[in-house]
Amino acid sequence: MDYAIARRNMVERQVRAKGVTDARVLEIMRQIPRHLFVEEAFQSQAYGDFPLPIGDKQTISQPYMVGLMTESLQLKGGEKVLEIGTGSGYQAAVLSKIAGRVYSVERIPSLARRARKILDSIGCGMVNIKVTDGTFGWEEMAPFDAILVTAGAPMIPENYKQQLVIGGRLVIPVGSRGVQVLKRVTRTGEKTFTEENLVDCRFVPLLGKLGWNEEDC
Ligand code: SAH
Repeated sequence: MDYAIARRNMVERQVRAKGVTDARVLEIMRQIPRHLFVEEAFQSQAYGDFPLPIGDKQTISQPYMVGLMTESLQLKGGEKVLEIGTGSGYQAAVLSKIAGRVYSVERIPSLARRARKILDSIGCGMVNIKVTDGTFGWEEMAPFDAILVTAGAPMIPENYKQQLVIGGRLVIPVGSRGVQVLKRVTRTGEKTFTEENLVDCRFVPLLGKLGWNEEDC
């Protein structure tokens, strides 16, 4: 299988066709070898229009959703970005090619280890990964220009909003455990925020102290 062709088709037919227009996001998604981030048995399906298993009951998001979320962060280059839910590391790889510094938090150690290996192997060693409950954000590294949450939250944890610079953007799926709305929260002042609904979506749950209860799984 020619993965470069599969990637170009993925970007044209799924990501661009569904409305992602940011040229830099599209170009980076043409480059990052998504098949390396999925389980080996699923490599040939890595460029399909769906999420895929990455182990530990978690999934790598559908390509369109990765493109949409990245575009929605409105990055221009050089920013400091926080991702919650490293998972496979694919989204972090995409972010790292646009932003300056990427900090990513994952609660499952084996996923974080695997992501670390893949990111290092493709030259994304600049992504910082921490294993912990990410519902508190990453206080020591705050503030961030942008925060992306890649798991569905029951509500918006206040910590994320407080860890944004003024003008910073938080993109987060919020809703029930089964279905959410992707929201963008922009910090317009010290105590003021605006909120937009972007699209309906379906993510695995954000589990932790300020998220869903881990015991319910
Ligand atoms: N961004 C990932 C997709 C991740 S799926 C990718 O590109 O592959 C969501 C991830 O969020 C899972 O790996 C899950 O373990 C993680 N997660 C869920 N709750 C979390 C929490 N409280 N803190 C950190 N990570 C969490």
